[in-house]
Amino acid sequence: MKLTRMLHSAGRFRPVFDFGEREVAHWFPGHMAKGLKQMRASVRKVDCILEIHDARIPFSGRNPQFQETLDVRPHLLILNKMDLADMSGKQRILKQLEKDGVRNVLFTDSLRQSDDNIKKLVPMVTELIESRPRFNRDENTNYCLMVIGVPNVGKSSLINSLRRTNLKKGRASRVGGEPGITRAVLTKIQVCERPIMHLLDTPGVLPPKIESVETGMKLALCGTILDHLVGEDIIADYLLYSLNRLEKFSYVERYNLEEPSDDIQHVLKRIAVKLGKTQRVKAITGVGNITITVPNYTAAAYDFIRAFRKGELGRVMLD
Ligand code: GDP
Repeated sequence: MKLTRMLHSAGRFRPVFDFGEREVAHWFPGHMAKGLKQMRASVRKVDCILEIHDARIPFSGRNPQFQETLDVRPHLLILNKMDLADMSGKQRILKQLEKDGVRNVLFTDSLRQSDDNIKKLVPMVTELIESRPRFNRDENTNYCLMVIGVPNVGKSSLINSLRRTNLKKGRASRVGGEPGITRAVLTKIQVCERPIMHLLDTPGVLPPKIESVETGMKLALCGTILDHLVGEDIIADYLLYSLNRLEKFSYVERYNLEEPSDDIQHVLKRIAVKLGKTQRVKAITGVGNITITVPNYTAAAYDFIRAFRKGELGRVMLD
């Protein structure tokens, strides 16, 4: 890492990212208000909320709109995709979350066939619920859980993982819809027999809270905002900036660069060449039209981002 210190001290990398004139206004479509309203209604029947978020951004983008509702009932924050996260700062994160009033946190990898942390979920939730006076239905010992979170953080994967972990045959025992109420909303999966505990099969989708352009960029990097709304080119540049800032230099070898670089055009060119993603375009010159081969920057940017999201460029902690 000596080399990287030198690079930093030589001012080789950007100390801050220049977001230019960008605004967050249009990054998240406004059609979610209806979903939110509906979810508020479902949440009322729930005994414990499982809020899931991306472990690489434990602070960015979590939606506090449910705070009032969450305050009055047990709440477990699940930081998923821990396999993609640099967990060396775990204690710092837990401390900060506790300061923010979030005391119950579980890190998970929902894609793993058998994740020990997922196994802890039901016992943790049971304890959380039973250590508090029941919020509703006092005499009833049939607990109901609901998963909520911003898009693409792994809500469905977590539900499937809970299903795999807590059902003997690995399949859901579906409790069918009740008359007059949408079947999909009421479909439940039993995740525990004693006490009886159900999980609503349909997760609640929250719009992310994008308080700054940088938050938006982190959310985009983690795939929670549609790429084209933000722009692949700037996401790729922010990715490069982040990898350099975090000293994750595996991209250098992967894309045959000589050394770390802070110049996205240069890096994308190398990626394009390495992947054979080049385009032939017509150019008009003083001596007539010629066809030249140029790197396909968009394809290269896309590959760079995709590799990162698969964890192939190293584990990161963006917050
Ligand atoms: P949802 O939109 O919140 O329901 O998210 P999904 O469950 O559809 O997952 C979004 C993407 O993240 C999918 O490509 C999943 O395969 C992936 N994913 C979910 N959980 C994990 C995890 O723990 N680790 C990794 N590496 N990927 C995950």
